[in-house]
Amino acid sequence: MESSASARPVILLSNREPYEHVRTPAGVTLRRPPGGLVSALDPTLRRTHGVWVAWGSGSADRETADAAGRVAVPPPPAEPMYTLRRVWLDAADVEGYYLGFANSVLWPLCHLLIHHLQFRDEEWARYQRVNERFAAAAREEVSRLRRAGGPDPTVWIHDYHLALAAASLRGTVPGIFIHQFWHIPFPPPEILHLLPYGVSEALLRGLLGNDLLAFHTDRYAVNFLECAAQLLPGTTVDRGNLTVQYAGHVTSLAAFPISIDVHRFESLAADASAAMAVSDLRRRYASDGRQLGVSVDRVDYTKGIPERLRALDLLWERAPELRGRVTMLVVAVPSRTELPPYQALEEEILQTVEAINLRYGTSTWTPIVYLTESMPPSALASIYRAADLCLVSSLQDGMNLVAKEFIACQIDERGVLVLSRFTGAAEEIDGAVLVNPFNVDGFVKGILAALEMPAAERARRMHAMREQLRLATVFDWLNAVMARVDAMMGTAVLADAPARP
Ligand code: UDP
Repeated sequence: MESSASARPVILLSNREPYEHVRTPAGVTLRRPPGGLVSALDPTLRRTHGVWVAWGSGSADRETADAAGRVAVPPPPAEPMYTLRRVWLDAADVEGYYLGFANSVLWPLCHLLIHHLQFRDEEWARYQRVNERFAAAAREEVSRLRRAGGPDPTVWIHDYHLALAAASLRGTVPGIFIHQFWHIPFPPPEILHLLPYGVSEALLRGLLGNDLLAFHTDRYAVNFLECAAQLLPGTTVDRGNLTVQYAGHVTSLAAFPISIDVHRFESLAADASAAMAVSDLRRRYASDGRQLGVSVDRVDYTKGIPERLRALDLLWERAPELRGRVTMLVVAVPSRTELPPYQALEEEILQTVEAINLRYGTSTWTPIVYLTESMPPSALASIYRAADLCLVSSLQDGMNLVAKEFIACQIDERGVLVLSRFTGAAEEIDGAVLVNPFNVDGFVKGILAALEMPAAERARRMHAMREQLRLATVFDWLNAVMARVDAMMGTAVLADAPARP
C-alpha cells in the first residue's frame, strides 16, 4: 500500500551514527557502534532505502563522505542500501550541544538528579544551532527524495539530543509525518520548570512539532502531557486520548517499551564457547555453593552504583556468615569521562570497591571483582548466564536493557533479578525482586531474599520472565511503533480525502 508507513523511505535522525569511519595506523577502518538499537533500526533503513542523519563523529568520516556529508551504506563490498548523511560538529559544538546541554542539563533533569544540573547560556545556544543543523540536513534529504519521485518519506527522530528538530522541520517541510522516540524518562512539570525562563517552553514547542511522540512508559507520556499543560501557554490537552494541541497542531503521545534482540542474546548464551566461559566463571567464582552476583553498567550517576556497593558492604557487615558465600562481578565501563561528575563517580566507585575488598577479602575470596573494560555482547552473555543474581540499582532509568539481557541469557533459569523499582523495566517485567536503591536496609533485604530464594522459585520466576520477554523483543517494539505510524497516517489520509459521492 503506497500510503503505508512501511512502504515509505524513513529519514532517521539520531546523535550517534550507524557506521563510523576511523583512521588507524593500518588505514581507515569501519566501526559499528555497540548496542542493539542500531542493529534493530538498520534493516528498516535498508528495506525502505532511507536516509540516516547523524553526527559524523569518526576521525575518517569526512574523507569517506561526499561534499554534502553523504555516504552510501553499508560500504563496499556489501551492496549499498541507504544513505548515511553526516552532520559535522566542531569541538565547541560537541562541548556545548552534546556534553553541555544534552548531557549536563537534559540528562540529569530527565533522571530527576537535579543536583548535577549545570545550565549555561552558551551551551543552550549551541544545542539550538546543532538541532537546526540536523533539521536542515533532514530537510535537504526530504527534498532530494521528493525530487527523485516515489512515496513521500516519514521522519523519525531519536532521543533527547534532538528535542528541537521536529518543530523546525514542521515549520519548513509541510505535509511530512514526523515522529520521535524519547529514550530516557520525561520529568514531571516541577522538575522541567527548573530550567531558565523560555527554555522549557522552547523544548516543549520543539517536541510538539511531532505528530507522534513516544516514550517507554505511560508515566513518562503523562509527565510530558502535564508539562505541556502547565508550562506552555496556549496548549489544550486531552488526558483520555493522550494528545496535546498547540498552535493548531495535534501531537499524539504514546508508550512503547523498548527491548532487545532476545533471540540473539539467547543464542549467544547457548553457544558452545559461552558454555565453556560459563563453566570457567562458575569454577572461579561460584564453586562449593558460593553464589555469583553480577552487575553491568556504564559508569553513570543514574545507575546507583555507589548505592549498590553500600548495600553489599552492609550485607557483609551484618551477616558475616555470608562473607565468602557470594562474589560480586561488577562490570562498570567508564563513560562521558570528559565531565567532572563522571570522573568523580569513577574515583568514588574505585575507592569503595577497594575499601570493601580490603575489609572483607581473604586469601581465598575477593568480595568484588571489578572490571572496567567494555565487553562485547558475547562476553556479557556468558556473565549473565553464569550468574545466580543480577543487581540493577538505577536511581532512575528510562528502561534498562541490562535487566532484559540478563533474563534472555538465563537459559539455565538459576538466577534472580534484583531490580530497582525506578527503572522502566520494573514497570513492565513481572518476577524480579524489586528494591528501592535509596533505602539501603531494604536493598540489603532484597539481596538477601535473592540469595536465599530456593531453586524452584528462581526457575519459576525466571521462566515466566523469559516467556514474557520473548513476546516483547526490540522487533515487536519496532513493529508497534510502525503500526501506530501507519494507523495515524491512514487516518490522516482519510481525513484529507474529499468526500465520496
Ligand atoms: N554494554 C556493553 N558492554 C559493556 C557494558 C554494557 O555492550 O561492557 C551494553 C549493555 O549490553 C546494554 C547497554 O550497554 O545493552 C546499556 O544499556 P542500558 O539500557 O542498561 O543503559 P544505558 O547505558 O543505555 O543508560
